Amino acid sequence: MTNKELADLIFPNVSSDTIIYEQRYPERNLPEGAVVSRFAPSPTGFVHMGSLLTAFIENFVPKTTDGIFYLRIEDTDGKRTVENGINGIIKDLKDFDITIDEGVISETEEIGNYGPYIQSKRKEIYESYAKKLIEEGLAYPCFCKEEELTSMREKQEHKKTRIGYYGNWAKCRDLTNEERIEKIKNGEKYIIRLKSPGKFENKIILNDLVRGKIEMPENDIDVVLIKGDGLPIYHFAHVIDDHLMRTTHVLRGEEWISSYPIHSQLFSILRFKEPKYGHLGVVMKIDENGSRRKLSKRKDPEAAVSFYHEKGIPIDAVKLYLMTIANTNFEAWLDSNPEKSIYDFEFDFKKISESGTLFDVEKLLNISKNYISKLTAEEVYENLVNYTEEYDKEFYNIIINNKDYTTNILNIERVQKKPRKDYSSYSDIKNHIWYMFDELFYDGNQTYDFQKICDKKEIKDILNDYINNFYEEKDDKEVWFEKIKSLCDKLGYASNMKEYKENPENFKGNVADISTVIRVALTTKSMTPDLYEIMKILGKDRITDRFNVFNVD
Ligand code: GLU
Repeated sequence: MTNKELADLIFPNVSSDTIIYEQRYPERNLPEGAVVSRFAPSPTGFVHMGSLLTAFIENFVPKTTDGIFYLRIEDTDGKRTVENGINGIIKDLKDFDITIDEGVISETEEIGNYGPYIQSKRKEIYESYAKKLIEEGLAYPCFCKEEELTSMREKQEHKKTRIGYYGNWAKCRDLTNEERIEKIKNGEKYIIRLKSPGKFENKIILNDLVRGKIEMPENDIDVVLIKGDGLPIYHFAHVIDDHLMRTTHVLRGEEWISSYPIHSQLFSILRFKEPKYGHLGVVMKIDENGSRRKLSKRKDPEAAVSFYHEKGIPIDAVKLYLMTIANTNFEAWLDSNPEKSIYDFEFDFKKISESGTLFDVEKLLNISKNYISKLTAEEVYENLVNYTEEYDKEFYNIIINNKDYTTNILNIERVQKKPRKDYSSYSDIKNHIWYMFDELFYDGNQTYDFQKICDKKEIKDILNDYINNFYEEKDDKEVWFEKIKSLCDKLGYASNMKEYKENPENFKGNVADISTVIRVALTTKSMTPDLYEIMKILGKDRITDRFNVFNVD
């Protein structure tokens, strides 16, 4: 009996004429050098930081080469599928401004001419190619049961021979078509395996974009192509999809390197052009005891992409950070091109760290601080409004009703050569400026961080004298400071630090101690940004109110 009869029995309703797919999904008409890349997650509902880094590079390179970036959902492994899992991924990508040119845009919709972009909807395509391979004698049904495979593995372990379904171990490979057809007709369950034409002794070379040449043995394993549920396994789906979707660059985790011989063989027997491959190392962190370990979605909150959104770390800062860890020469480039857009940077696959990437939240927060410090107060205000609207309604209501006031606060020490770098994220801003808002300041039990001068009567005298006899709203910064000094002289504190240092015993304290009293009375804190600016923004009435807190005995 012929292969064709076998193939027709297995796939009666599918044509093995795969040319229709070649025609339906033609070569893309793109400029020379354009990269077509894809992000291909399982619908697990969220994006891990390691995958975000991959998605970021896969998105970046097409963007800078007039190429295409698309999202494909790999849902052929039911175990990795969660309800609404596609939407979760789409949200995470959207939150990071990773936009797609083609692919899945919701649980039920997609855009682009190379779909369907969800693997479970491509069943017929995989079947068509599987049928073709059966006809060509390059694939066959395997009837081995789970117990038989386990027993084979045990024997291999016992004999200390290579594990796997290959050569003489591949029991079903040499069945005759008659035997196969009979078993199928008898209702025996089967899967479809590749009849590998490879020899383990032969060597093949992977020209990895990141790692250079890697030599590996040729594949001789009769891997599964189509599982018992009728869906393909990763290897088969990957090769067919990336061919038909005309992917030029496959970027994926290093755990796939060892599967390359299978993929390369499938590309070759299906007569497809192989894409370029780049295998990325795992994203790691240094844990409490100083050792490196894989960033774990179970142990590390920062492994989930939603963490950054919830914290209000600006997307652009995360992008800068991702690029810093993606390409080892990016930081130096940015230092010499501070005004350029990240998209002017020429990405180099060879500059991806091979040994894995160290993920460092502190560094990300520093980049974020730096980034926010360069925005205008108006921009920070807008972003803060957007952030608090989603995550802090109380603060949102306060700032939305006090736009100019809040913007002025955010502007403190911003318009200067070296702007102040207080805020590492939008969730952090409230911690720095809450005291400027009466609603948050008078919480009934504010604790004042008075330093050297903490005698209640002395504090009261200083504040009263200052507000009644010295402070005037119209004063410029110089006059303002002169007046604080005059207050010092009047009350027996040194207005001149040099004099104070020479003879501290002659004074009750110094000008810094007096300023601290004013600062703490106004903000509760002994360390704040510029006191003069804070006072200007508060205005005399509110200053008086805050000082009056100390006028009770
Ligand atoms: N679905 C595969 C994974 O999540 C994708 C690997 C690839 O990009 O080819 O690991």
